Amino acid sequence: MKYVDEFRDQQLARQLAAAIAAEVDPGRDYRLMEFCGGHTHAIFRYGVQQLMPPNLRFVHGPGCPVCVLPMARLDQAIAMTREHGVTLCTYGDLMRVPASGRQTLLKAKAAGADVRMIYSTQDVLRIARTEPERQVVFLAIGFETTTPPTAVAILQARAEGLKNLSILCNHVLTPPALRAILATAGPEGVQLDGILGPSHVSTVIGTQPYAFVPREFGVPVVIAGFEPLDVMQSALMLVRQINTGRCEVENQYSRAVDEHGNARALELMARVFVTRPSFEWRGLGFLPESALALGEDYADLDAERRFPVRIEASHEIKGCECPAILRGLKEPTECKLFGTVCTPDNPMGACMVSSEGACAAYWSHRTHTPHSGRH
Ligand code: SF4
Repeated sequence: MKYVDEFRDQQLARQLAAAIAAEVDPGRDYRLMEFCGGHTHAIFRYGVQQLMPPNLRFVHGPGCPVCVLPMARLDQAIAMTREHGVTLCTYGDLMRVPASGRQTLLKAKAAGADVRMIYSTQDVLRIARTEPERQVVFLAIGFETTTPPTAVAILQARAEGLKNLSILCNHVLTPPALRAILATAGPEGVQLDGILGPSHVSTVIGTQPYAFVPREFGVPVVIAGFEPLDVMQSALMLVRQINTGRCEVENQYSRAVDEHGNARALELMARVFVTRPSFEWRGLGFLPESALALGEDYADLDAERRFPVRIEASHEIKGCECPAILRGLKEPTECKLFGTVCTPDNPMGACMVSSEGACAAYWSHRTHTPHSGRH
């Protein structure tokens, strides 16, 4: 297929693997964090890790929007359906993510809540238009990639005068999460030698927002595409930076990303959203200025204000290592529940549910035995 096959060419993959093997210094390790779940899946699906020399290891990052949504926000959404009888709309990946007490949106739906799976924000607008008697809440999640469509939906709802649509906003920001991971590197956190930066997020925000990573933490960044050759070429670019002592932001994914990002998308986001002072991330805890909320001009569309609920403190399922996995501290096979109690049919944590989750990637492309600690 044109524009796909070129980035999966076996001959080129062998050449890149040979170049990396020739250039790595056998006397040191290369720990490269791929921020995105999309990269994690490319690495597993195409066996990229197996093509690397033994001293180059990919470390999985927190770039899976479903995985980083804390239980409390799911509990809040479920409580809105129960206490206010709202119609809750969200993307399919979220439906089976465990909330407190092994509850899920799917189970809430089975128990009578009006929970609907949508494919785009346009579906939410259609439901609100065609069912004016229902209060429709869009459970919005995602990094900078999915934020502009939510902004468009909000502006469209305002323009159409839709009074029965509101947004439960959980959009999060990539740079603060990177900062949190790097700030805890060392004895308490993961030690990293380089970062494979996000593809889709960077089409929106550009390469400039990552400048603090080499400047403040001395760690090089390469913005990497999602195809296997993209990942391999990006790894080679990082190896070359590390070997020569360079430390900067490079852009492997130049066919889609530039320095400044998508000006129109950024303008829409700035018009509708404000930065929250603090927001909880699963695995990373509360991070300052790491998420968005609706600005005052759109407060009437904010589901948190329209449908307030009280929720109890939430607790991760005992034994689930999602928090450590999202910080790059553990691999899924180090979780005792992996492949035994926890499978895609019976997920215990978000990392096994989401199509971008590390546990789902290990399970789908597994070459290991459950709880072997190896893959
Ligand atoms: S295997 Fe399941 S229980 Fe273990 S960390 Fe992954 S999602 Fe959590």
